Amino acid sequence: MSERPRVYKTEGVILRRRNIGEADSIFTVLTEREGKFEAVARGVRKARSRMRGHLEPLTHSRLMLARGRTLDVFTQAETIAAYRRVREDLERSALAIYCAELADRFTVEQAEQPGVFELLLGVLDALEDGAPAHVVRYFELHLLSLSGYDLQLDVCALCGGRLAAEETLISAEAGGLVCGACRAGAGTGRLLPVAGIKVLRHARAADLAAFAAVRVDEELGRVLAGALGDAVRYHLEREVSSSSYLAEVTRLSRARPAEGWGRVQ
Ligand SMILES: [Zn+2]
Repeated sequence: MSERPRVYKTEGVILRRRNIGEADSIFTVLTEREGKFEAVARGVRKARSRMRGHLEPLTHSRLMLARGRTLDVFTQAETIAAYRRVREDLERSALAIYCAELADRFTVEQAEQPGVFELLLGVLDALEDGAPAHVVRYFELHLLSLSGYDLQLDVCALCGGRLAAEETLISAEAGGLVCGACRAGAGTGRLLPVAGIKVLRHARAADLAAFAAVRVDEELGRVLAGALGDAVRYHLEREVSSSSYLAEVTRLSRARPAEGWGRVQ
């Protein structure tokens, strides 16, 4: 049996922190090669810790770790991207926290999750660059797909029949769009206008930059956020804790005059 190296390097996005003891914290990290794992940073809550700023949640960092008996231990950390614009903006940070929570919930530790790291990095980069909030729909749709929960957007999810170009039910329980004839047996869902169907199909086919350039008005953004939120909750089989925070931030931001950056949902 070959020994794993005692010390290794990786890069990842910090998803979550929980504090233990006087000054230590355990961080959950999502990486490209090692998947998701937890590791401990000793003394990281002391003011003098050199790793402190490089292990904040929502930071993309270069990491060095030593294998530990139970948890690996961070020995070095260096920020690649701090996502300052995201952090300094209430709406953008709420969106990013929501995406990080989903990336965490939809992955399991020590398992290969190809694509999730790149997807999260992509949405964080886009939010940092000032992309509109609907890029989060792209993230949700592709995260569902990477997790084996593709939404059926081409034909009826129940009968496989053709979909008319009209307002159509989208149901998490049915697994996607549902034709008029099957609607009664589809469980709960939301009616998606033709424009919304087009946006979702575009999100599936386009890259994130192209999708960010699509114009999504506030009402449609709300419907799409609801439909994808339903699918996320259905597959997680529970509420996403940051989604109520995100909804509150969104509500507050609507109550004040629009600023330069795109609307939230
Ligand atoms: Zn049908």
